[in-house]
Amino acid sequence: MIHFSNVFKRYESGHEALQNVNFLLNEGEMAFLTGHSGAGKSTLLKLIMRMEVATRGQVVIDGIPLNTMKKRYVPYLRRKVGVVFQDHQLLFDRSVYDNVALPLIIEGMRPQDIAKRVRAALDKVGLLSKEKMNPILLSGGEQQRVGIARAVVNKPPILLADEPTGNLDPQLSAEIMQLFRQFNAVGVTVLIASHDIDLISRMRMRMLALRQGSLAHDGVMA
Ligand code: ADP
Ligand code: ADP
Repeated sequence: MIHFSNVFKRYESGHEALQNVNFLLNEGEMAFLTGHSGAGKSTLLKLIMRMEVATRGQVVIDGIPLNTMKKRYVPYLRRKVGVVFQDHQLLFDRSVYDNVALPLIIEGMRPQDIAKRVRAALDKVGLLSKEKMNPILLSGGEQQRVGIARAVVNKPPILLADEPTGNLDPQLSAEIMQLFRQFNAVGVTVLIASHDIDLISRMRMRMLALRQGSLAHDGVMA
């Protein structure tokens, strides 16, 4: 589902953010991406979303090589990849419901279908009862759940998260990770960038560790 082969990424500045990165995340797999600040985690996620393009090597998402992908295909790629951000990037001038509906409105989905999908997504993250609220009134953990509902509302086969628990305490972090596991359990391929080594080791899941742009480790931590 996500295949990196001999991937290098050098920015305009000359900085080599990724060097010879190789890994395969199969359909339905879940893994964590770790590494110190500056190790290249965000760059790797941006390559998957094609917000950046590899300088050398190949990134293949769901069978599509991104290096040679036509620009007009980018929106289709983005629909396959749900993204959760650390700061959740919610809009505080509209309701929880409208925040989650946004990707579907952009896609041009019919309103009656939108309502079905939004309620299903909110139900999965346990926030159906708060659909009319303004997200500014929700707790940090709840806001992150709204961000997750928005990321999965169009049922993408791939779910990426960039430090999704960065602002949460351990208990809430564990709950959020449990949610990602639930999506993984229904077949979604999940890749989560996180600093939270304690939590990751307790979950006993595959970990891809970047060190200064190179993949230093790939596997379940001993
Ligand atoms: P992480 O997410 O692990 O903190 P990043 O992928 O953001 O790491 O950054 C990896 C390296 O690439 C860092 O040294 C960073 O300064 C550099 N970098 C990131 N984005 C750019 C950019 N647009 N232009 C130049 N250098 C960048
Ligand atoms: P349906 O057509 O009933 O919506 P699907 O075959 O599309 O069912 O999905 C099967 C189950 O897996 C559903 O419960 C659906 O909600 C869930 N599912 C599949 N992919 C995702 C995803 N990316 N995000 C959330 N739930 C998903």
